Amino acid sequence: MTDPVLATHGLTKSFGAVQASRDISLSLQPGEIHAVIGPNGAGKSTLISQICGGLAPDAGQVHFLGEDVTALPTRKRARMGLARTFQISALAMEDTVLQNVTLGALGARGGPLGLLRDALNNQDLRDKAMGALQRVGLAGQASTITAELSHGQRRQLEVSIALTLNPRAFIMDEPMAGMGTEGSHRLTAFLDELRHEAPILLVEHDMDAVFALADRLSVLVYGEIIATGTVEEIRNNPQVRAAYLGE
Ligand code: ADP
Ligand code: MG
Repeated sequence: MTDPVLATHGLTKSFGAVQASRDISLSLQPGEIHAVIGPNGAGKSTLISQICGGLAPDAGQVHFLGEDVTALPTRKRARMGLARTFQISALAMEDTVLQNVTLGALGARGGPLGLLRDALNNQDLRDKAMGALQRVGLAGQASTITAELSHGQRRQLEVSIALTLNPRAFIMDEPMAGMGTEGSHRLTAFLDELRHEAPILLVEHDMDAVFALADRLSVLVYGEIIATGTVEEIRNNPQVRAAYLGE
């Protein structure tokens, strides 16, 4: 195997008596989609927060681009190219699509608020924002008010904001949530393209999407990874079928 883009080593985290992460080690290889599945409360979001920096582990490390980033704040990891998308949406609904990308790109860099208005008039930033919109197929909606976008288009917009940060890895928490069949099919095709930009760690409940996209799958149950493998390996794993697929 090549050097992973992202790796966790023995991540452990408790909330009182609840062990939300138990010795979690996983990796994300260049070009791959690695899906993490598991029932509600298994610890998927807790794992993502530790990877992105919102939560400090009780033990264990996170390595990104060969560097130990365990002690780095979220913003520094984001600047290194660790792009988290599809968390609670931070889009400004009354602004245009282009304004959201321009401000998002600047905001994520931690620019003082006073600079934001200037940013909207900054041609370089606007060009960068338009370039990102083109890559997700939203250039035609640049001057649309964000509230008028469909659910799927909002997710594309979130990705375009992440693209302005030159992402080296995408971390996604349930991107298909709340989408209809057609929307999730379109998003599935989009993520399949996006993996060429940077590998994706994908937490997702939609098993059709997971089976279609994942190169590898890790199954999380009660804070513990009980199996990692290809879609075929996981589908045929008796322990997984018993614990998660309900067989
Ligand atoms: P998932 O995303 O897989 O549904 P979570 O990571 O949200 O699971 O939660 C894992 C476990 O940790 C759950 O039992 C949850 O109640 C608990 N938990 C998560 N965050 C907190 C918190 N901030 N304080 C206390 N318990 C938490
Ligand atoms: Mg969750």
